[in-house]
Amino acid sequence: APLVSLRGVAKRYATGTLAVRGIELDIRPGDFLALLGPSGCGKSTLLRMIAGLAEPTAGRIDWPGGTPGPRDIGFVFQEPTLMPWATALANVALPLDLAGVPGREAEARAAAMLARVGLQGFEQAYPRALSGGMRMRVSIARALVTRPRLLLLDEPFAALDEITRFRLNNDLLELWEAERFTVVFVTHSVFESVYLARRIVVMAPRPGRMHAELAVAAARR
Ligand code: ADP
Ligand code: ADP
Repeated sequence: APLVSLRGVAKRYATGTLAVRGIELDIRPGDFLALLGPSGCGKSTLLRMIAGLAEPTAGRIDWPGGTPGPRDIGFVFQEPTLMPWATALANVALPLDLAGVPGREAEARAAAMLARVGLQGFEQAYPRALSGGMRMRVSIARALVTRPRLLLLDEPFAALDEITRFRLNNDLLELWEAERFTVVFVTHSVFESVYLARRIVVMAPRPGRMHAELAVAAARR
């Protein structure tokens, strides 16, 4: 059974803009799915509906394995939304604190997750002292620390320089290959979608219908 199933999903904003329509999509457990399309085609809208942050105005989104709780979905935004007054460790531990995990255990799990994204030794650093790439690593660690069933990333590396972006692509792929959480990755980069994803959903320009669905058989490292 799919993890998430979208049938006839559409979204019209109160402004009248029809952002997406006619979305028929199954997200299978362990998938690495890229949503590829030009700016404005409704990728973010679709991702936010999958996350439950926006309601479809038509169609349905089902989770056959059970309705997700807040810790079942990790969301990574294009701009890292870290708390500036908290250390990297405290930022990553926050979702665990909110889930009621005891402080010491939350810190240990957050520290282990920071190490998994290559930030061992930066636990006590504040976001402003970290580079853009490192802040994105902290955001990914925070999204994964609760071991969500689904990781959603909305053009996460778009603001980074190409080399940092390439490194983060590789490290995300390595994490996914090791742990096989389910990923939906929004991008307007053809390279990124082909390099990362198992499956690419190509969106037509607005209103974003699904143009094509491609299976990727790229050689892995
Ligand atoms: P993408 O992520 O592919 O760039 P978006 O989902 O952000 O596309 O936007 C799709 C369309 O919906 C665009 O025309 C955008 O202007 C519009 N839109 C996005 N968010 C809102 C909103 N909150 N209210 C009204 N229109 C919106
Ligand atoms: P970048 O940090 O350049 O965006 P990476 O996230 O791949 O790209 O980081 C590469 C490494 O460079 C980091 O693991 C870290 O060791 C080092 N580094 C980058 N920025 C800083 C910084 N502000 N302070 C200390 N070390 C840094």
